[in-house]
Amino acid sequence: MTQEELFKKLIAHSKEYGFIFPSSEIYDGLSAVYDYGQLGVELKNNIKAYWWDAMTRLRENIVGIDAAIFMHPRTWEASGHVGAFNDPLIDNKDSKKRYRADVLLEDHLAKLDEKIEKEVEKARKRFGESFDEGQYRTTSERVVALQKDRDAIHARMVKALTDNDLTELRQIIVDAEIVDPVSGTRNWTEVRQFNLMFDTKMGSVAEGANTIYLRPETAQGIFVNFLNVQKTGRMKIPFGIAQIGKAFRNEIVARQFIFRMREFEQMEMQFFVRPGEEMQWYEYWKNFRMSWHRALGFGDELYRFHDHDKLAHYANAAADVEFRFPFGFKEVEGIHSRTDFDLGNHEKFSGKKLRYFDPETGESYVPYVVETSIGVDRMVLQILSASYAEEQLDGGESRVVMRIPSQLAPVKVAVLPLVKKDGLPEIARGIIDALKYDHNVHYDEKDSIGKRYRRQDAIGTPFCVTVDHTSGEDGTVTVRHRDTMEQQRVAIADLPALINKECSLRSLLEKLKN
Ligand code: ATP
Repeated sequence: MTQEELFKKLIAHSKEYGFIFPSSEIYDGLSAVYDYGQLGVELKNNIKAYWWDAMTRLRENIVGIDAAIFMHPRTWEASGHVGAFNDPLIDNKDSKKRYRADVLLEDHLAKLDEKIEKEVEKARKRFGESFDEGQYRTTSERVVALQKDRDAIHARMVKALTDNDLTELRQIIVDAEIVDPVSGTRNWTEVRQFNLMFDTKMGSVAEGANTIYLRPETAQGIFVNFLNVQKTGRMKIPFGIAQIGKAFRNEIVARQFIFRMREFEQMEMQFFVRPGEEMQWYEYWKNFRMSWHRALGFGDELYRFHDHDKLAHYANAAADVEFRFPFGFKEVEGIHSRTDFDLGNHEKFSGKKLRYFDPETGESYVPYVVETSIGVDRMVLQILSASYAEEQLDGGESRVVMRIPSQLAPVKVAVLPLVKKDGLPEIARGIIDALKYDHNVHYDEKDSIGKRYRRQDAIGTPFCVTVDHTSGEDGTVTVRHRDTMEQQRVAIADLPALINKECSLRSLLEKLKN
């Protein structure tokens, strides 16, 4: 199965089993907006709980808030979003498709990287044991030429983005001979800036109406509450404020399912530190956040850091955690050293002091900030794409199984009476009653037991508990494990401990290194 086929299957699977639906589907959907179904919402809630507990509950110096989506419009002037939250867009005149100029260039660079790696791999096979990769990269004419081409485009792109030079950005696209994947032509328009914020009006009378924005990030709700939380929570620097909430961006190109949405959800944490100490905290948070991802157990090779080429207007260092999606390595999370830009600007724009008196140094200052910012929806996509597998079984059968980490699985246990009579449903319901206060548990009595197992495999349920005629006699049931399909006989009384051990968030949180 190619990665493209895998991605198509994932989208279809997510819909078929109630994870994710297109928004307002009966009206043919709304571009880049999606609804989470009965299983999707459970998965999402579990991801949020994993993040929230790792970032707040396990730490004495981080607390959470839940700020409003609407904020005073001056907020977005102070944050720089009114002036600078733009993406450079370009259209192809033949296909009438719209692209982000920087993304076109990044995709082109990724293709060149791929070509280089293919050459190196070919040579490795040709030369066998004696292959010296370093030497090959610096002496192979083809690789050297490709690398030179790649580096030149990259350097021009970074400069054009930094200088905000839209004419040059277009020129690089032309010079690199990038074609539109749809029309196959190079008939490009000029590059224009496009502000990503949605606006609306507040107030009932048009004259008195004020333009307000749907927040494009949750972070600003934290900055404006910095002193409220610091004072009322008696927080001492270094400390953090965390928040989970919706954000909105009028994305130019939105073609990758829930990877790039116009309404999405973020989990952000702003960590306030002494000026000058931000770099050590930046490194700390990079490492911790990577360990949070890797604890899921999908394989360390699926993650990498990517340092930003062009720093945002507020940052002095920034890196992304990238995950290998079916469409390549892409950002799931950003770790940014935001300096005192935001608090400093809010001081200027509001005229209110946003300072911290440090009892240890006797000084008063505007703290520096290190931010971790992750998209809930991109986490959902990460988990779905890393979990999906099609397997051939003995006897010519096959199954689709979602190997979702047990702690995040939407349904933890399915309880299945072998038949709908002889008192088996009653025993099954008794088991559900014992488990349901701690876990999301399903009851299913329809179809053959084999079919019921397949249904649970397809939604990632880690355990199926089958109640049969012996259960009434000796108080035991069959527990079937999703990944190995192994079955074991377990006393009903031992079920809660077994399920807790595998499925509680604790087992995941304990893996984290602080
Ligand atoms: P990109 O370069 O992909 O547009 P970004 O660098 O603008 O992303 P940030 O502003 O750093 O993203 O946002 C933090 C996180 O929020 C991202 O790592 C991502 O997980 C999530 N996110 C941002 N934009 C979207 C979106 N349109 N849809 C879904 N998630 C998003």
